Amino acid sequence: MKPLQNHKYWSFDFDRTLVEMQVDWGMVWDEVFKLFKENSWELSEGLGLHESIDEAASKYDVRVKKHFHDILQKYESGCSFTRNIPLLAVLEKSSVPWAIFSNNCKGTILSILETLDLSPSIIVAYEDVQTCKPSSEGLELILKHFSIESEPEKLIFVGDKVTDKKAADSADVPFFYVQDLGEKFI
Ligand SMILES: [Mg+2]
Repeated sequence: MKPLQNHKYWSFDFDRTLVEMQVDWGMVWDEVFKLFKENSWELSEGLGLHESIDEAASKYDVRVKKHFHDILQKYESGCSFTRNIPLLAVLEKSSVPWAIFSNNCKGTILSILETLDLSPSIIVAYEDVQTCKPSSEGLELILKHFSIESEPEKLIFVGDKVTDKKAADSADVPFFYVQDLGEKFI
């Protein structure tokens, strides 16, 4: 996969990039709507799930982060998933150090990786950052882990969403959409 070849370190989003998790995100949203309503919090239009939670944490109550983690865990836990076979095949064969930067729960990621028999150098999950994507906090941790904070161009980040791209842009890390690698989930 050409875009990957020019980089010494790789990092990937998880859901809809390496695998596609079968999670009922509609139900997760319903719980979030309920939470906002119960607390009379305002939900900003156009924000994704994690962005809405991060906004509520900074505007209203930081404890919402932990509460949302419990909701996420409830719906993600034990979910079935399909695989991005071509990309996973590249990872299986390659010796390039690689990382995962995801808004999903760490336990979910670890359990799926165990099934796939894959071990990245570092996993940055929901629990590991104060602010989720589009914040670049997680990518900064990955750059630090690989000791390339001053050379972010050595890393590539591959993801499926505009929030992935925004995180990469803020960290000066080159970005590539997984869709352009020829995404295929089986
Ligand atoms: Mg994704």
